[in-house]
This record gives sequence, C-alpha cells and structure tokens, in this order.
Amino acid sequence: MAEFVHPPTDFNAITRKSLEENERSHLSPHATLSGDSLGRLYPEEEHSFRTAFQRDRDRLIHSTAFRRLEYKTQVFVNREGDYYRTRLTHTLEVVQISRSIARALALNEDLAEAMALAHDMGHTPFGHTVEEVLDELMADENGFEHNAQGLRCVDLLEAPYAGFSGLNLTYEVRSIFTKKRPMADLRRLGYASPESEKFDGGPSKPIMEAQVVDLADSVAYNSHDIDDGIKSGLLDPESLCETDVWRRIWESSLGQDPGIRRRTAIRQLINRQVTDIVEASYERMKQIDDQPGRSPSTGDYPALGRIERIIDFRPEMRKQETELKRLLHKNLYRHPQVTRKMDKACTMIRSLFNYYLEHPEQMTTSYRKRAGDEPLKRVVCDYIAGMTDRFAEGEYVSLFLPDSLRMNH
Ligand code: MG
Repeated sequence: MAEFVHPPTDFNAITRKSLEENERSHLSPHATLSGDSLGRLYPEEEHSFRTAFQRDRDRLIHSTAFRRLEYKTQVFVNREGDYYRTRLTHTLEVVQISRSIARALALNEDLAEAMALAHDMGHTPFGHTVEEVLDELMADENGFEHNAQGLRCVDLLEAPYAGFSGLNLTYEVRSIFTKKRPMADLRRLGYASPESEKFDGGPSKPIMEAQVVDLADSVAYNSHDIDDGIKSGLLDPESLCETDVWRRIWESSLGQDPGIRRRTAIRQLINRQVTDIVEASYERMKQIDDQPGRSPSTGDYPALGRIERIIDFRPEMRKQETELKRLLHKNLYRHPQVTRKMDKACTMIRSLFNYYLEHPEQMTTSYRKRAGDEPLKRVVCDYIAGMTDRFAEGEYVSLFLPDSLRMNH
C-alpha cells in the first residue's frame, strides 16, 4: 500500500510569539496586547501556542463557576421554561457582542472574550434581588457585591491547582471585576488576597476591552430581557414605545407574524446599538489619536477632557438606552409575578444563611475547612453565592420541609 505523504506546505505553525507579533502589528494603539500583560499573581511559564489571554479564556471555560451559570437565574427563574435566558446563555450573548465590537475596533478580541466569560461569575442564585439580601445579611462584614465576589471566585474559590488557590488569571482579565475601584474598596467588601495588591497600581481607568464588555452586557440584557419579557406575556411591547428607538423598530415591523416581529425587533435593537457603539467609539479613538499627549495606557485623554469612557454610545443613544432600562424596571422587573418569585427566593436564602451559620458542618467539605481561616459569615456567604438555583432549592427543601412533602419535590 502506498504510504500517505503530506502535501508540501508553505505556512508556518501558529505560535504564541507569532500571535503576539500579529497583535502588535494589526491591533489599534488603544488595544491591550497580550505580550504586554502585567502578568499573573503567581508567575507561570508562557504557553507555546496560546497567548496569555487565550489561556485565561480556556481556564474560565473549564472552571466550576462557569458551568454553574447554566442553572442560575437571569430574570426568569431557571425552571420556568426552556426559552428563557439563563446566566450562561446571557454570558454567551455578552461574549458574542463583545467580540463583534472588539474586532470592529481592532481591540483585543481574545481579552474581550475572556472578560465576558468571567463577568457574571460572582452572581448569586436567583438574580439581583438575592444579591441585595446577601448584602444586607453581610452588613457587619462589609457587605456583598457581585464584582468583588467575582474576584473572590477567580482568585480564591476556584481550586484546580495544587500550588495555589484560584485560576491565576492575568491582571487584565481580572480587571473586569476591579474596574477602576481601588483595592481599599475591595478589601472593605470582604475581598482579602494580599497577593492581588501587587496590581494596585494598574491603569487608572478601565482598559478598553473592559469598557467593551460593560457595554455589551447592557446591550445583551436590555434586548434579551425585552425578548423574554414579551415571550412570557408579562411585558407589553407597546409599553416600551415611549422610547424613540424602540417605537421606530417596533412600528417598522407592523403586520408581521408576532414571533417573527419580536425576533426582528430584538435583532434590530442589538444591531442599532452595537453599530452606534462602534461608530461613536471609533470617532473618539480617532480624536485621541489626532491629539498630542495622549496616553491610552493610563486612561488620560487630554483631548477629550475628563471623560470616563472612550467606548460608549452616542449621547442620543445613551439617553434612549437609559430610558429603555427605566421602562424595563417599571414594567418587567417589578411585575408582581416576577417579584413574587424573587420574594420566595429571598426567604429561602435568608433561611439557608442563618441555618449554615448555626450548622457550618452542613456545608460541603471545602467550605467547612475554610471556616477556620475567615469569618464564618463570609464563608457561608461564599457558599450560598456559589449555589445554583436548583441546588439552593434542593437544600432548602431537604433542610426545612417535612419528609412527606419532600417526596413530591
Ligand atoms: Mg451580565
């Protein structure tokens, strides 16, 4: 039998070094380059064919906290129906929008992707209302906040390595949680990792890719909450027509099949917002480039005065977006059917919190072990924040319901 011969090739294998060179020669001067990373808490040898940010993206995908996003609520409680977004599908939508914006602006797409994958890892089960409950329960321990919790998660609670806690991500990917908040603020919020203070002197403003992910997050949740809200029957699309952007979109698809009309409108809403972000941000980046004294690395932009963000909507779209958010709060998030479920979730979380404080031995081994190292309240808070909706419900049922009722659960 003839031996198989590989055809001759004239391409080279892709290495980390060639990827880093590509970034340096092809990305915008505003992009964050993987070859210039400030590094990791614990130094590691670089990978041969993945950049530091690609490696972080892969670590996040393989983490426990990422898998749990599948069973955490976005707005609609996880078991209500298969149509609705969960925190996992929300995260994937944020990844998609972030990558589109980053690519169009020649920013670092790998970094934006990794940040988007991580951005909601500190969220509690059952969404924002439970975050408020945990904040209140932790009042004498400096409170609870999902970004600080995200950092605890990737620096401390994830434990895949023998030599240290956490995923040992780069400074840049971690900055999706710290934003521009000084470490002192994070310490107040119960975030305690002396090693991470090594990065205290990073850029004074959020790096570009973090700005991209923050905006992509808003675009994703506004549009998918409208989609889920209409689909569930709780949100009347006409009630959003007070905003010009939605009214124009909604009216332009009049007469279509309701399902197609909804999807067409959501698609257009995302596209208009993303296009607005890309165009407006590109204009701002050019303005900076044309001025002397620019300093993208520190976030100081003398040409534009004291502005916080380069990646942003145009002022008109920003106004529309704020208005849409207000209407969503009024008409969907405070809908009695939504708040009723959230109230139930809050009762469950309060009961679980008080129970584990009294019975720390009922937590899983890794948390029981940590109880000696940190205040018990913080450990209980970590344990509950890491739960999925269904795990929290299962624990509640098993701890508080009589066996005869548990049979039917
Ligand atoms: Mg989010």
